[in-house]
Amino acid sequence: MLFEILRNIVHYGFHFLVPFLFGYLFWRKNWKLAGLLMVSTMVIDLDHLLADPIFDPDRCGVGFHPMHTIWAAIAYVVLFFFPSWKLKAIAVGCLFHLFTDSVDCYLGNVKKEIQGTVLSCSGPPTSANTEILQQL
Ligand SMILES: [Zn+2]
Repeated sequence: MLFEILRNIVHYGFHFLVPFLFGYLFWRKNWKLAGLLMVSTMVIDLDHLLADPIFDPDRCGVGFHPMHTIWAAIAYVVLFFFPSWKLKAIAVGCLFHLFTDSVDCYLGNVKKEIQGTVLSCSGPPTSANTEILQQL
C-alpha cells in the first residue's frame, strides 16, 4: 500500500510536475508554455487504445505500445534536432514520458520481487505475511 502510494506519487509527479521544472531549467522565458507542451505529450498514451486489453496492470507499456517503442524514441530524438524550441520541448516531453513509464515498470517489478521474497521466505501464508503483502 505504502509502496503503491510512493509509486503513484513518483509516476504522476514525473508526468505532471517535472515537465514544469524542465521548462524552468531549459526555457525559462517560456517555462509555463514549455511545461504545458511537455505535459501534453501524455497524448502519446492514446496508443493504449490499440491494445487489448486497453489497460493491463501487469504489462509494461514501454516497448509494447507503438508510441512507446524504440522506433518512436528515435523519432522523438530526431524531433529534438528541429530548429524550434517548441518542438524540442515536445521531444524532451516524449522522451521523458518514456523514461517515466520505464521507472513505473521498474517499480512494478520491484514490488513483484518484494512480494515474491515475502512469500518465499515466510513459508505457507499466514495472516501476518498476508498483512505485509497488503501493505505493499
Ligand atoms: Zn505512457
